[in-house]
Amino acid sequence: MSRLKRLAILGSTGSIGCQAFSVIQSLNQPEPRFSVEALAAGENLDLLVAQINAVQPKLVAIKKSSDIARLEKILGREWRGEILVGEDGLQAIAQLPSADLVLNGLVGAAGLSPTLASLYAGKTVALANKESLVIGGHLIKRALSEGNGKLIPVDSEHSALFQLFEGRQFSEIARLVLTASGGPLRTRPLEDFSKVTVAEVLKHPTWQMGKRITVDSATLVNKAFEVIEAHWLFDLPFEKIHTLIHPQSLVHGLVELIDGAVLAHLSVTDMKLPIQYALTYPERMATELPRLDLIKHKLEFDPVGEKRYPAFRTVVEAGKVGGTLPAVVNATDEVLVQRFLNGEIPFTGIAQGIQEIAEQHEPMKNPTLEEILEADRWTRERASMQIG
Ligand code: MG
Repeated sequence: MSRLKRLAILGSTGSIGCQAFSVIQSLNQPEPRFSVEALAAGENLDLLVAQINAVQPKLVAIKKSSDIARLEKILGREWRGEILVGEDGLQAIAQLPSADLVLNGLVGAAGLSPTLASLYAGKTVALANKESLVIGGHLIKRALSEGNGKLIPVDSEHSALFQLFEGRQFSEIARLVLTASGGPLRTRPLEDFSKVTVAEVLKHPTWQMGKRITVDSATLVNKAFEVIEAHWLFDLPFEKIHTLIHPQSLVHGLVELIDGAVLAHLSVTDMKLPIQYALTYPERMATELPRLDLIKHKLEFDPVGEKRYPAFRTVVEAGKVGGTLPAVVNATDEVLVQRFLNGEIPFTGIAQGIQEIAEQHEPMKNPTLEEILEADRWTRERASMQIG
């Protein structure tokens, strides 16, 4: 790369943000290729301070104004940037004029509005916040057609498919296949499901991720979200998006062409790879990551079991209905996953609750951002009272 690429990172202290930091650190050796102009984080101030000291951004946004004084105190006089707060702060960083690329690593529905702001501001967005597409796919599509913005997926499966699609004609694509590890309960006897513990569910067999997405991998809700994400990202009908269980998580995506040829993307299981590709796109850069040794692995594929993963179908169906329903399903899942982690409801209560609340909701067609966020709030109230 000839000149510094300037980044803004939303969700810098989360799982994606932290891994992005380590990618940037290694790409900036031996000579700097990226500068980090702005960071938006939540409440993990100690980590944020370490990040500020490491990259010296001009702007930082935090969640609560009550944290400003403490942040300023820890930072001392070393740093002379500006601190912004709340939704306004996020919006400002999402549209930052000096940023070439915005990495959106926020978690949850809160990620949609900044994604839209970035796209309308003509930014390229490296999108790790899948909820943006799950709950607001139609709004993102409109923003892409009305503005000069671009999306580069960071989700590993979508990054794989994005790479496979490069240079292909849309008319050559017969279907695509997303792979799912099957999560930690893939071989657990079905009759034990009501006794599953939090510790078991958090032990993901192949990926290191945040807590919610790890639980979502056990229910396969994450994969259902990824089906919806692929539908909007690649403009493909749901009938052309298939899912297979692939326990080794080495094949990240498959594209079947109209002549029957199948292209696959394989790599070691490490989120740093899709993060790096989104940051360096369209270029590729060498990494120190371990290489894939196929002699050591057997590749297996299985269909998605309906009894084992009942929430998968509910959530994909919600994606097909569209409107406000995906937002409702997403918010229900977020609340119920947290309640499962708190020990308030059993593991099976997640799938059951999603189905019940989805049935109670009258979906609104073609909702605005405000209507989507209103559906999100409506749902949170319900889901927090739902009896698991
Ligand atoms: Mg994924």
